Amino acid sequence: MTADIIDGKAFAADLRNRIANRVANLKSDHGLQPGLAVVIVGENPASQIYVRNKVQQTVEAGMQSYHHELPADTSEDDLLTLISNLNADTAVHGILVQLPLPDHINDNRILNAIDPDKDADGFHPLNAGRLATGLKGLVPCTPLGCLMLLKDRLGDLTGQNAVVIGRSNIVGKPMAQLLLQQNCTVTIAHSRTRDLASVVKGADILVAAVGVANLVRGDWLKESATVIDVGMNRLPPIEEGSKPRLAGDVAFSEALEACAAITPVPGGVGPMTIACLLANTVTCAERLHGIAESTDWF
Ligand code: NAD
Repeated sequence: MTADIIDGKAFAADLRNRIANRVANLKSDHGLQPGLAVVIVGENPASQIYVRNKVQQTVEAGMQSYHHELPADTSEDDLLTLISNLNADTAVHGILVQLPLPDHINDNRILNAIDPDKDADGFHPLNAGRLATGLKGLVPCTPLGCLMLLKDRLGDLTGQNAVVIGRSNIVGKPMAQLLLQQNCTVTIAHSRTRDLASVVKGADILVAAVGVANLVRGDWLKESATVIDVGMNRLPPIEEGSKPRLAGDVAFSEALEACAAITPVPGGVGPMTIACLLANTVTCAERLHGIAESTDWF
């Protein structure tokens, strides 16, 4: 048996097209151009690549992009002032502050200062609370993208045993909440879980969001399982001078022979994250302007 490969890259490209169509309609029917402000502090090379991709895809979708690149020694107060100005700016509908921030800046204080209704990343505690209590809010992009891929493949998720490995605020916990909302029976596993292999063996749906390359082995998986691999782990290049390799949290070649379907790394969850950021920005703009929301994302 060879598992189906879930093509997140293709799904994300299609989603970006749907978003661009919606943006064009918002412009023509309501004179509204959604705007996303992206703030980066310092010169972390990986963050700079992420931000460049976000800005490029925002513009390609027809949205306005406001890019704020600040020096590494920016004070917390100056960053808070910028956030406050973006909160007040009516042309800005979504705000994203790229993490990690330099050590002298308190991440939580910054994330909490973002207007929850412009919180395109869905990290504000109010949005975490809305998600946990079933209220309408903004959902973190990576788990939202995982859910889209799962629903596209499986349809109704009711009654499925879902195992999420990882309990971070940005992936594991919101993922578990989303699956619970879809009527799955959800188990959250983490670094203190005993006998992870047997927990995973019960999963109809497995979402691995750990950050340990190839942690999940093929013989842990149920034959009928659908596996979403969020992990993005850089491995050293095979030869000196060649590119570093990316690996997921699931041993991909083993899983291919063991389960029903799996997302590859790269080309699975990664492209969905930015596409969902764009979708969240459109949602922010629609809600801030009292326009009926697009139901076109799922
Ligand atoms: P994190 O470090 O905040 O959380 C990792 C979680 O894994 C923790 O809750 C921890 O309890 C658990 N864990 C660690 N070791 C474990 C083990 N041996 N067994 C079981 N659980 C263990 O990480 P995060 O921000 O949630 O990200 C997780 C992974 O997902 C990383 O590889 C990250 O790069 C990747 N990621 C990818 C995207 C994307 O767009 N594709 C987005 C966000 C994160």
